Amino acid sequence: MLTIGEFARASRLSAKALRLYDELGLLPPARVDPASGYRFYRADQLERARLVAWLRRLGMPLARIRVVCGLPPAAAAAEVAAFWAQAEADLASRRELAAFLASYLTGKDTERPDQDTGLAIRYAAASDTGRGRPANQDAAYASARLLAVADGMGGGGELASAAAIDALKSLEAGLPAGSLLNALADAVAAAGAAVRDITAAGPDQAGSGTTLTALLWSGSQLGLVHIGDTRAYLLRGGELFLITHDHTVVQSLIDDGRLTPEEAVSHPERSLLLRALDGAGVTADLSLRVARAGDRYLLCSDGLTGVVPAARIHQVLRTAAGPEQVVGELIGVANAAGGPDNIACVAADVGPAA
Ligand code: MG
Repeated sequence: MLTIGEFARASRLSAKALRLYDELGLLPPARVDPASGYRFYRADQLERARLVAWLRRLGMPLARIRVVCGLPPAAAAAEVAAFWAQAEADLASRRELAAFLASYLTGKDTERPDQDTGLAIRYAAASDTGRGRPANQDAAYASARLLAVADGMGGGGELASAAAIDALKSLEAGLPAGSLLNALADAVAAAGAAVRDITAAGPDQAGSGTTLTALLWSGSQLGLVHIGDTRAYLLRGGELFLITHDHTVVQSLIDDGRLTPEEAVSHPERSLLLRALDGAGVTADLSLRVARAGDRYLLCSDGLTGVVPAARIHQVLRTAAGPEQVVGELIGVANAAGGPDNIACVAADVGPAA
């Protein structure tokens, strides 16, 4: 038997921590002297003590450590992996939020949100059923202030994609100066609430959801809201930039280096979403960009990007005369590639106001 001092040195835990773990039932001593109250540990308790210490170092809460310690090794390993996957997802969303806030605060300094920039946009939006689906659950919308694409799924998918975009339209009336941050957050909340109402409306619609990718214009600033695997591209100076990050299982495998982009193209689960607006209160990516004259923006659903390579999209964006031509040509290209899914496209050109 080891005294608590000897056991603390051997396990690299403090005596104070050992007393706490005893009280929580995580690591009870083998024997407590009834007269003195001294705690004694067996040498074979060291392994568990070290496991507790490592799990603490990982940042795992004590209640969850108790669960892990009670599991057989394979199940305990799975629990540790699940804990870490969640921790990384939380960190990724905090990283995005930090980047967004930094860009927001930078923009506050250099841009007056509703200043007259002398810029205007020309835009076009269209959505097509494609050749493989009986109905169209995609939605596309464009106005002088708002561009949006949504890809609905489930029994109420068509309603969900339309409702998510409708919820953003309140922003078209214009924003009070400096309120883009609140406006974007409110818009995402309103879109989530609208989808929640639809999923709650009946058993056929339960489990429905939608992706949402939208650009909101405020002066030369663009607020980007994004959730799911619909995408936003920017053509600037002849180069094509993907300005959203797919919330898919496959993209996360690519991010982890466990799958190459080439392998992802034919992955059987490439459309499996990690995040969507499904009424469950998930978070959207928010970012701010500054528009420049000559920019061409494209928002599109996976009915385009799932079958048309980025190089072909780039070519159309580089060569099409205007937004109507971009949208019409891209829908044509997706249908020519088989059109297995619904296709939604919104295009916008930034130029001098007339
Ligand atoms: Mg789709």
